[in-house]
Amino acid sequence: MAPVLVLMDQSKASMEAVTLARRFGGPVHSVRMDAIQPFAPDAVAAILALAANDLNASAVFAPGTDRGNDVMARLAARTGLPLAANCVDVAPGTPFSVSRQRWGGSLLESALLHSPRPLITVAPNSFPVEAEPAPIDVDVKLLLTQIEEGDFAVCVNDHMAAAGGKVSLAEAKVVVSGGRGVGSKEGFAIIEELAGLLGGAVGCSRVVTSAGWRPHSDQVGQTGTKIAPDLYIACGISGATQHMAGCKGAKRILAINADAEAPIMQNADYAVIGDLKEIVPAISAEIRKIK
Ligand SMILES: Cc1cc2nc3c(=O)[nH]c(=O)nc-3n(C[C@H](O)[C@H](O)[C@H](O)COP(=O)(O)OP(=O)(O)OC[C@H]3O[C@@H](n4cnc5c(N)ncnc54)[C@H](O)[C@@H]3O)c2cc1C
Repeated sequence: MAPVLVLMDQSKASMEAVTLARRFGGPVHSVRMDAIQPFAPDAVAAILALAANDLNASAVFAPGTDRGNDVMARLAARTGLPLAANCVDVAPGTPFSVSRQRWGGSLLESALLHSPRPLITVAPNSFPVEAEPAPIDVDVKLLLTQIEEGDFAVCVNDHMAAAGGKVSLAEAKVVVSGGRGVGSKEGFAIIEELAGLLGGAVGCSRVVTSAGWRPHSDQVGQTGTKIAPDLYIACGISGATQHMAGCKGAKRILAINADAEAPIMQNADYAVIGDLKEIVPAISAEIRKIK
């Protein structure tokens, strides 16, 4: 059985990649995402390309995280091999079959991949992890001598803490999110206040980041952060598919909206119909009384 190569980091998504890779039956080898410090996606892609050739790997897998997708897109570009992103199932063969998530997880696509070496990223949190960890056994030091200087042109050279947020959006148990209905950058003061009282994080819709009211790191949705808090409070957000793709993992959704017919009502567990500029401060005032 031909070996399979997996790009590994500390994420659960890496273990999901190993789970799918083991469906091939052959030995699983792996390369660490942090094999090159600081992170340089082209250099990691170059290492993967060299390791896959050395091993004659039948496929290359990676977690469908930002970094995993980044490296694999670069690997696809440099090798000319097709990449199937966000897969939830694979079946080896010629052609190779995949099931993958599209449209922020709202559509499951079955596809055939005609490729001598399929490149696969695995959708995070999409199925139970079954596999033992893969041995991290590719000798990166040996391969490093074969990498070109240009492969280090893109690299992380600084880390900046997210502005103001005490609780990270991805991990917060409560997220209070604002949309176009908040009306302005300054309008977010009441959203921040409520989030603070609940020990939660502030989120927002894409309209808000496009208007420059909040940074992109606060955006919830298909092209923002995907979250799964215990409670999601959506204030002045209509509930577009692309927004719901980011918050449908919430255990409970409270919608505060002036429009009782807004699409978000179909997903909301609780709703308050009215002007958020009155309702949000009223909720904060009640919480203060209890505290
Ligand atoms: C490829 C693609 C990717 C996208 N990715 C994302 C994404 O990641 N995240 C995302 O959010 N969007 C995304 N979008 C945009 C998405 O389609 C919507 O345009 C966006 O989510 C709408 O934002 P909104 O709900 O804030 O605004 P609107 O749709 O304009 O809704 C505003 C809501 O506020 C209510 N309202 C107004 N005033 C008040 C008030 N005073 N009190 C209470 N309620 C009030 C209105 O009734 C309305 O329901 C994407 C779109 C595309 C095409």
